[in-house]
Amino acid sequence: MDKSAANLVDFHCHLDLYPNFSDIINECERRKIYTLAVTTTPRAWKKNNELAQSTKYVRAALGLHPQVIHQYHHEVDMLCSMIPQTRYVGEIGLDGSPEYLSGMELQKTVLHKILQTCAREGGRIISLHSRRASKEVLDALEHHSDAGTAILHWFSGTQKDLKRAVSIGCWFSIGPSMLETKKGYELALLIPRDKILTETDGPFTKKNGKPLMPWDTAAAIEKLSFLWNISVEDARKQVVSNLNRLLKAE
Ligand code: MN
Repeated sequence: MDKSAANLVDFHCHLDLYPNFSDIINECERRKIYTLAVTTTPRAWKKNNELAQSTKYVRAALGLHPQVIHQYHHEVDMLCSMIPQTRYVGEIGLDGSPEYLSGMELQKTVLHKILQTCAREGGRIISLHSRRASKEVLDALEHHSDAGTAILHWFSGTQKDLKRAVSIGCWFSIGPSMLETKKGYELALLIPRDKILTETDGPFTKKNGKPLMPWDTAAAIEKLSFLWNISVEDARKQVVSNLNRLLKAE
């Protein structure tokens, strides 16, 4: 794939949760939007990967979402057995919100298994969830330092954790919503420009009641141009060149 030809980047989107899944894939192709279709269970990955096979700009990531681990933890072995078939893993991670906290030990066991397998297979590009558990996610990444390149999606931890994440080589994917809050904006200011990708996290994120679409990453680019004090076009080029560097690295 000639990634340099991508116009926009949505590095964390749940494409299979939109009703018109395959139409959106076609639209991403038409608009040249590099889209990483993250999945919530390894079973879902198969279909995503099949559809992505014939595309230039859409890729499927093999995931087990921390918020469904209490239900699907037994699928972790299936996931690990499938890691050799893909370059992308996600959405994985930990969620320390009150409703998921009781399952934290199980979440950690699953995350460790997955990161260990990624390391054994030579490293993967990994999209991670770290809501209310950024410290624990960073502990796991530090422990499995050969797991690959970690991209923290919609990071919402402390500035201290963010600095630690930067120091251990993490990347970040940032959506329009993160840049709408003062906290998110201030976090984004601390991230090196060359470690930032854009995302939507659609269809969970909405604008005017409608789920964000991969092309709505244009709004994140506009906000980044403001944050970096450069033109929108230069911000877009920065993100696309970051993507190219990430994909070339391994
Ligand atoms: Mn997500």
